Amino acid sequence: MADCRKCWIRARKRYATWDRANSLFFFLTWIFLWFLFLPVNSYAKEWVKAKWVADGDTIVLENGDLIRYIGIDAPEIDHKTNMAEPYGIIARELNKKLVLSENLHLVFDQRQQDRYGRRLAYVFLESGIFVNQVLIENGYAIYLYHKANLKYQDVLLKKQQEAMTSKRGVWKNWREKAERYIGNINSKRFHIPACPYGKKTVPKNIVLFESAWDAFWQGYSPCGQCLNIGEFTSHDP
Ligand SMILES: [Zn+2]
Repeated sequence: MADCRKCWIRARKRYATWDRANSLFFFLTWIFLWFLFLPVNSYAKEWVKAKWVADGDTIVLENGDLIRYIGIDAPEIDHKTNMAEPYGIIARELNKKLVLSENLHLVFDQRQQDRYGRRLAYVFLESGIFVNQVLIENGYAIYLYHKANLKYQDVLLKKQQEAMTSKRGVWKNWREKAERYIGNINSKRFHIPACPYGKKTVPKNIVLFESAWDAFWQGYSPCGQCLNIGEFTSHDP
């Protein structure tokens, strides 16, 4: 009988030890999960504010940083005369409406700065809206390939093709010229045949386009020296 009582006491001690170990296990698991999910929801996301919008693809943050959107190219605006390429002003207005209304979260890619010292970023609003994509899908910016920054290239090009099919923005009053174009497979830029930059293209990198529309559809953009988007579209509606 006495032995039995000892057994019982030993069993209780063992159970108490097991119970403590079990509680510790659950506590540690809970702490682990807390640290696992906490970064996603809070401190890993840094929020910033825009203070000025230059055009459809460039903004200045409150801390003074100049941000150039990755993967898109909006029509230019001359800030002294306020003269703009077709859809330049309307692109800036849409960009203003988006980025001045909410906090912004910037996502970076492999190359984080351009040769002008601007930070290269994908811009997201607190509500989850992807600003680069909105500019493209409205036809207020064109897709711009950059081989180091490809994180969202598929979705941006797909949105451009949708905007082209629906004839939105710059794609609305499209005027094709009687011209063929030389594309560079490596840089995804295209040129008129007379362009000196186009002529430098290594033969194995050359692709020919029957129209500028085809080049844009395949994710090529104008070289900037010999062509610009304003040559193919008319001014704002
Ligand atoms: Zn060119």
